[in-house]
Amino acid sequence: MVRSITFLEAGYTEQFEKIVNPVTGKWRKIRFPSTVALIEHPREGYLLFDAGYSGRFQDVTRRFPERLYAWVTPVTVSPETSAVGRLKGLGLSETDITRVVLSHFHADHIGGTADFSRAQFVASRREYDWLNAFGTVSQVKHGFLKALLPEAFESRARWIDEFPAELTSLGQGWRGADLLGDGSVFLVPLPGHTIGQMGLYVPSVGGVDYFLVADAAWLTPSFREGIAPMRVTDLIFHDSSVYRDTLTRLHRLDCETRSKGRLRILTCHCDEAMQKERSHVV
Ligand SMILES: [Zn+2]
Repeated sequence: MVRSITFLEAGYTEQFEKIVNPVTGKWRKIRFPSTVALIEHPREGYLLFDAGYSGRFQDVTRRFPERLYAWVTPVTVSPETSAVGRLKGLGLSETDITRVVLSHFHADHIGGTADFSRAQFVASRREYDWLNAFGTVSQVKHGFLKALLPEAFESRARWIDEFPAELTSLGQGWRGADLLGDGSVFLVPLPGHTIGQMGLYVPSVGGVDYFLVADAAWLTPSFREGIAPMRVTDLIFHDSSVYRDTLTRLHRLDCETRSKGRLRILTCHCDEAMQKERSHVV
């Protein structure tokens, strides 16, 4: 089983809370951190779930059409606050990372990939192929800045698109791919936000089962209260009705498991939830 999970903030952007939570949110700008999970496995060493933003994002978005992304989503990140910078603060270097698992290919999740020279990348081939069928302008419109990926990305990738394991501990209908073959880390399909988005289910870490759901929900109230974002955000989803189905499943899962207090569902961008994980945040 996994020894520990540490949550790192690798850059952030700001957005109006009301847009993502039209029920209880306010018309105030709140911080949306790009969270990277550092997972320590006794045999496999250190894995990352997502790579956050990095300095390469600033370089890539100096030119068109990538600049359009930075106009719509202004990003704050520095060498010290990228994933690699945060790891340095923990006494780790980029070469300590054996795998970088990508929930999906949006720029705020792949921004730091090029900083990892020896890691294997784990991702959905289906989503990668789907995005690669577009020209650069359309890719940017889909939030995919291919220039963020390292050159040898494809040859270093392990593709996961099948989910044969039944995750009975989550309940009926939940399936996953056993990433390390020992039941310690599962990739779980959470489609709708993108075509192949995956979450990470990491059971039994200090008595807690973690379910990292990436962008299947943006904030904790989204899945806790079952609050979908404003319809305007449908523009950036691959399939808004599938997105809403996935959100409903997470809401139901949270309702069913909350009283037991063992399952911790965490989104990538909920600053409040990450503040609560304060003992893990650096
Ligand atoms: Zn996303």
